[in-house]
Amino acid sequence: PSPAVVRAHAKVGKLPPYAAGKPPVAVPGLAPYKLSSNENPFAPVPGVVERVHEIVAGVEGAPSLLCRYPDPLATELREKLAPHLDVPAEDIVTGAGSLGALSQIITAFAGEGEGTEPDEVIFAWRSFEAYPIVARSAGAKDVMVPLTADHRHDLPAMLDAITDRTRVILLCTPNNPTGPALTTAEVEDFLAKVPSHILVVIDEAYVEFIRDEDAVKGLEMYRKHRNVVVLRTFSKAHGLANLRVGYSVSHPEITSALRTVAVPFAVSTLAEQAAVASLEHLDEVLGHVQTVVDERVRVVAALQEAGWDVPETQANFVWLPLGDQTAAFAEAAQARALSVRAFAGEGVRVTMGEVEANDRFLEVARAFRS
Ligand code: PMP
Repeated sequence: PSPAVVRAHAKVGKLPPYAAGKPPVAVPGLAPYKLSSNENPFAPVPGVVERVHEIVAGVEGAPSLLCRYPDPLATELREKLAPHLDVPAEDIVTGAGSLGALSQIITAFAGEGEGTEPDEVIFAWRSFEAYPIVARSAGAKDVMVPLTADHRHDLPAMLDAITDRTRVILLCTPNNPTGPALTTAEVEDFLAKVPSHILVVIDEAYVEFIRDEDAVKGLEMYRKHRNVVVLRTFSKAHGLANLRVGYSVSHPEITSALRTVAVPFAVSTLAEQAAVASLEHLDEVLGHVQTVVDERVRVVAALQEAGWDVPETQANFVWLPLGDQTAAFAEAAQARALSVRAFAGEGVRVTMGEVEANDRFLEVARAFRS
């Protein structure tokens, strides 16, 4: 390989590829269900689908908008979001999913570093699979701090991991794939101890599913600390995973850097307008969210009754810490036309799906223990 190729590989290291959730394998006589990507089992609400149709087909003689570039700043969406979040529209930066928004943050704030050692990005592990990929792609070093025995962030250990090369700390709340949310008290204490030149990202991809009143509210932390960035997405609660729209909220000295590195036109007009329409039909959307939360409560209770030790979850998924039985459980689910997300040797994450899907998951879980 050429020196350029060698250099590229040295920079990104040997990362496992992002293992996207797989579709279920067909089993005769059983409806297949995908419970492997934390998607919303509900299709987008009708008002959203109508808006997308209008952009594709054009309305009242107006042409389809597909031949035009989108607004690079997604102004309409940011202005729609601002009063919902009670933040200035200027503090919102959109991206292709919250992953796009996260990528802007890491690209702007962490990289190969100025000396001989790379910048460092600290996050809990296990957490969202994309974190090491985004950090290392930027040339930074990923510093993974193991979760506690009860599958939560170990914030004291994360503080201990800070060095003079730390540029960004990622907090995932609720944590994907394990489920617990961070509390206001623990994050306030943490932020008081993190040097203010380090960026703290609060990834709230699943925030709409939280019901614990003690859970941290990222936007409150952003209001109090100029080094906090909140990440949100339309992929989960709004059911728009395929359209790729997410955003960050942070202060202007940060947003100016994020806008500079943002991939131009990352959010299509389809995605922007779908998100706008989803906000216009928020009651319906939150009704779907509540159904998913009700299912989570039901499923967790049934699992506990069957003797499973399930960590507390505030998200739209549950974590089964199966250790070396992980692969066996995933196979048992697959045999019943369910795809779940297995993390080899650690556990299985199961997304809350349709009632029938959840019932079938419970059958698999009960049979597995007996
Ligand atoms: N953050 C977390 C914690 C996630 O679990 C996910 C999706 N799995 C994302 C961010 C990215 O989602 P998206 O890019 O679709 O907004």
